[in-house]
Amino acid sequence: MVVGCLALNASFEPLTMVPMRRALRLVIDGKAEIVESEPARVMRSARLTMPRPAVIRLTKFVHVPRRFRRQVTNTFLFARDHYRCQYCGRASAELKPRESLTRDHVVPLSRGGCNDWTNVVTACSSCNTRKANRFPEEIGMHPMVRPVEPHFVHLSWAVRRLTPPQARYIRLFYGPETLHQIEELEARTHREDAGAARERRPHS
Ligand SMILES: [Zn+2]
Repeated sequence: MVVGCLALNASFEPLTMVPMRRALRLVIDGKAEIVESEPARVMRSARLTMPRPAVIRLTKFVHVPRRFRRQVTNTFLFARDHYRCQYCGRASAELKPRESLTRDHVVPLSRGGCNDWTNVVTACSSCNTRKANRFPEEIGMHPMVRPVEPHFVHLSWAVRRLTPPQARYIRLFYGPETLHQIEELEARTHREDAGAARERRPHS
């Protein structure tokens, strides 16, 4: 699994996970500084060598509008849905070689649907193709879980790409109580996942 870099605002507010390449670009351009790195792992390019950043902090405070915070990225969308197609229930590991996880709009974009958290779900490419531009009731395909907007902290744990130093910054900003609640939530989700898997097995 690809490990991303946690990007903090200048105020230390955790903003998002960014791909490593983008994190490095921000640092090289002087738009961010590395606050935590993995010294054992070094990034090399033709011109420079630097420790692999685990947490970066933007050098200038960026005002992030609410709508931008809500922006759905596939990374977080798939994480919210536990890397599972919301129609056929298969996890990414169960997909065939030519299939992949995609973003499906419950109410199709072409029919007035929007790109909000409440209208997008993870779908395998086969289910997405089958559903096409139809409403769930027209084709009898309903998401397993009603899509909701997740909390950033929940997502960070859901993607499970947080290294201990990254988790420390989440804790710093949101407080240990929030982190504890999220851990509880995650543990519960895991137990439910395990339970669901046990229930599914005899039928499959
Ligand atoms: Zn599917």
